Amino acid sequence: PAGGVLLTATAVGVRYGPVTAVDDVTFEVREGEIVGLIGPNGAGKTTLMDAISGFVPATGRITLTGSEVGGQPPHRRARAGLGRTFQDIELYEELTVAENIMVGASHGGHGAESVRAALALLDISELADVAAADLSQGQRQLVSVARVLAGRPRVALLDEPAAGLDSLESRWLGQRLRAARDRGVTMLLVDHDMDLVLSICDRIIVLDLGRVIASGTPDEVRADPAVVGAYLGTP
Ligand code: ATP
Repeated sequence: PAGGVLLTATAVGVRYGPVTAVDDVTFEVREGEIVGLIGPNGAGKTTLMDAISGFVPATGRITLTGSEVGGQPPHRRARAGLGRTFQDIELYEELTVAENIMVGASHGGHGAESVRAALALLDISELADVAAADLSQGQRQLVSVARVLAGRPRVALLDEPAAGLDSLESRWLGQRLRAARDRGVTMLLVDHDMDLVLSICDRIIVLDLGRVIASGTPDEVRADPAVVGAYLGTP
C-alpha cells in the first residue's frame, strides 16, 4: 500500500517556443509506488522528466516531500532526492561496475556500502567487478538504475530503462524493479514497453500532446477509450 505523498506536480507546463510540450499536468507520486508515465511519441514524457529534474524550465509547481523544488538547478534537486537515469547511458568503459557507481553519480560519489546495497537490490552483485565495456545492453540498463539507487533517492526517475532490451530481458528488469519497490524504493517510470509498464506499475499516467488524458491502475488505463484512441490515432 502506498504511503505519504513524496512528489507533486501541479499545473506543470513547458513550452519550446511555439510548441507546448507539457500542458497543465498535475499528478502525485506516493511513497512505495511505481508510477508509470506513458504516451505516444512526442507526448511530452521526457520533457516532463526534464521539468521535474530541473533540466528544462517549467511553469507550475513541483514539490518533493512538501518543499518546492521548481527553480532549483538539477544538482540541487538530485541532492534533495530526485535521482534520475537518462536514455543515453554514459559509463566509464574501462572502469568496473562498482567503480562506475562509486564515481559516476552526477551529484557526487557513493560509498562502497551504498554501491553494494544497490547492486544487491537489483540482484546484480556478480557484476561488481566486471568492466563496463563488457556489459550487455540489459546489464547497462540495470547498472544505470543501480547508480541512481546508490544515491538513495526519495523518488527514482527512470527514463526508458527497457530501451534496447528484448522481451525476456525486459521481464527480468521488471522483476528487479518490483523487488526494489518491495524494499521501499519509489519510482516514476517512463517506458515504451507497454508489457513492462502495465505489469509493474501501481498507477499509470497517460500523456498525449502534453496533457494528461487518463490515469489510474493498469486495468483502468487499459480499458480507457481515450487511451485506446490516443494509441490508435482515432479521435
Ligand atoms: P518519445 O516517446 O518520442 O521520446 P516524448 O513523449 O518523450 O516522446 P518529448 O520528447 O518530451 O516527448 O517531446 C514533446 C514535444 O516537445 C514534441 O512535440 C517535441 O517535438 C517537442 N520538443 C522536445 N524537445 C524539444 C526541444 N529541445 N526543442 C523544441 N521542441 C522540442
